[in-house]
Amino acid sequence: MGRIRILTDQVANQIAAGEVVDRPASVVKELLENSLDAGATRIRIEVEAGGRKLIRISDDGHGMGRDDAMLAFERHATSKIRSSDDLLSIATLGFRGEALPSIASISRLDLTTRMEADATGTAIEIAGGKILRVDDIGVPPGTTIAVHDLFFNTPARRKFLKAESTELSHVTALVTHYALAHPDKHFELHSSTHALLVAPPVRKPSERIFQIFGNDTLQQLVPVAAELRMERTGLPEPPPWKRNENYEPPAPGYLRISGFVSKPELQKLNRNSIYFFVNKRLVRDRLIVHAVIEAYRNIIPPTSFPVILMFLEMPPEEVDVNVHPAKTEVRFRQSSFIHDFVRDTIRNALINARPAASFLQAITASAHATPALLPEISPIPDPSALEASLEELQSDPLIETHDAATFSLSAPESSPMPESLPFSAEVLQALGSMSLPTAHNCGEQILNEDAENVVDAAIAPNLNSLASLKPLGQLRESFILAVNDEGLWIIDQHVAHERVLFERVLRDREVEKVQRQQLLMPMLIDLMPEQMIVFARIAAELERNGFEAEPFGPRTIAIKAAPVGLEGRQLERMLTEVLEQTERETQSENLEAARTRIAASIACHAAIKINTRLDPRRMEWLLAELAKTEHPTSCPHGRPIALRYSWKDIQRAFQRI
Ligand code: ADP
Ligand code: MG
Repeated sequence: MGRIRILTDQVANQIAAGEVVDRPASVVKELLENSLDAGATRIRIEVEAGGRKLIRISDDGHGMGRDDAMLAFERHATSKIRSSDDLLSIATLGFRGEALPSIASISRLDLTTRMEADATGTAIEIAGGKILRVDDIGVPPGTTIAVHDLFFNTPARRKFLKAESTELSHVTALVTHYALAHPDKHFELHSSTHALLVAPPVRKPSERIFQIFGNDTLQQLVPVAAELRMERTGLPEPPPWKRNENYEPPAPGYLRISGFVSKPELQKLNRNSIYFFVNKRLVRDRLIVHAVIEAYRNIIPPTSFPVILMFLEMPPEEVDVNVHPAKTEVRFRQSSFIHDFVRDTIRNALINARPAASFLQAITASAHATPALLPEISPIPDPSALEASLEELQSDPLIETHDAATFSLSAPESSPMPESLPFSAEVLQALGSMSLPTAHNCGEQILNEDAENVVDAAIAPNLNSLASLKPLGQLRESFILAVNDEGLWIIDQHVAHERVLFERVLRDREVEKVQRQQLLMPMLIDLMPEQMIVFARIAAELERNGFEAEPFGPRTIAIKAAPVGLEGRQLERMLTEVLEQTERETQSENLEAARTRIAASIACHAAIKINTRLDPRRMEWLLAELAKTEHPTSCPHGRPIALRYSWKDIQRAFQRI
């Protein structure tokens, strides 16, 4: 007898379930997608024990007739595609015909369903893939599926489940994000004890965000919306011999982006709050994450991540969703086009919003990891997640390199402020005891601002008003105090100038117009052998930035010209910094990263230092130049440039409102 045999359907389904269902949240995902595909407008989900004991989902979709309901549990049974051609343009969320048989093979499942036109509905009971009972039943139109005891017959799987609270938080995150993608539908999620989400239909996505996350989060986000006609279609045209005489080449479709991206001050320690949907399907995609990170480059520190909720719409032919059994990955047919569109759209939205760090926000900045984008009513805190985030915190270089002296909050000997002031005492203490480090390290990283601490996000300052600032003077010859109608501002003179120079260097570099100065004496710099290699790699880029350098002996280079503003020690430091940073990067580092790093380094070393006296004209000039920049919010290393103590904050502090 041969060794090979064909697996039973039962085993085949369990194998498929291994790919499709790895935890309760993936069951919820499949069932939710089925309800949406069935045109449901109301979806109610109930879970017990994080979904291990029960997941019940009811919808008011088109339902199924008796035959279809039985067929739905056969492998590869689907109403959504017919031929392989259909795979090229999938407009539904499901299409593999695998989810129901897979889920039924690893649980005890009850289904009731009815089509509106039918007098009676159907009830089906299945356990471990075996149909136990099929009955007629009186039920309202729509479908309800209850999945009991998930993984009851696959103990190995069951062992991998995390704590109930962890599984529940995955389910909650999933339902939340589908609810965000479909604001016009009613979503409810209940756990055995309480309602986790109740979102009645609303007209606009922003209203749904408000419903789910509240006003604070909404105020931290900038809406994005853009549309672009594609230059061509992603699918190749059929060969000439397959075209009939009235063949018309397909018209390229439109690419649309809508959604919300976070302002620079809202930063997360990981990428868990980056969510995007492609044709209403929640997907993970490295290409888009890359585009997002590019968009935020030099706006937030490289170790922080934004919050993104983005919906991409494109003709179904432009995206291949048949890449991964769980359908969470996609392949774009015109990937670089989409990458650049996402990057540029986000960048433009950020430029237009130009938000500033509010004064209090930066002062009260604290360093705890903020949770991923989850509803405020989020479930029981998850101890394992907390542990993970603590670990993350401890190993976070941002935290370790934080110099406590810069923002020491120790109380001054006698507080000049009456105790009843709600928060300004803290602010003034911070100012009063602030000791400034004399040396300033540009590569130094600072604490993340925790935007969840925003005191009054409703009046998020708009940096367009920077242009109207009038300088009053300097604080410790390091910070410019300025006023306008919006309130009192404190501007870090070094990082402000750094931002101005950074954008100028990048701009001038583009047109090869970086102003250079010849050095009276060439400056000789000795390099290590591996630094010579690094130098060779970036020599052309340095040249574009106004440097003139040539080898001078085997391990020495001679700098003959440098960008205006950089000289002596600063020049030497800047070059060693760039060489060291480049050395640390991998070979595959992209050119753009090196380019912005060099520009950031030039800007940092040429910028006005702290502890430098500025006359009023120079302060005015600096503020005016800052107002003209694209991102007056944060320096190229991501730290805030301007803090605002708003008129409202001031009035409140004096208890006038
Ligand atoms: P797929 O979604 O890939 O088609 P599934 O196994 O998830 O495969 O579902 C099989 C079929 O069952 C679907 O094609 C659909 O016709 C039907 N179906 C599943 N869930 C529902 C539902 N909630 N309402 C109506 N029909 C459903
Ligand atoms: Mg499905």
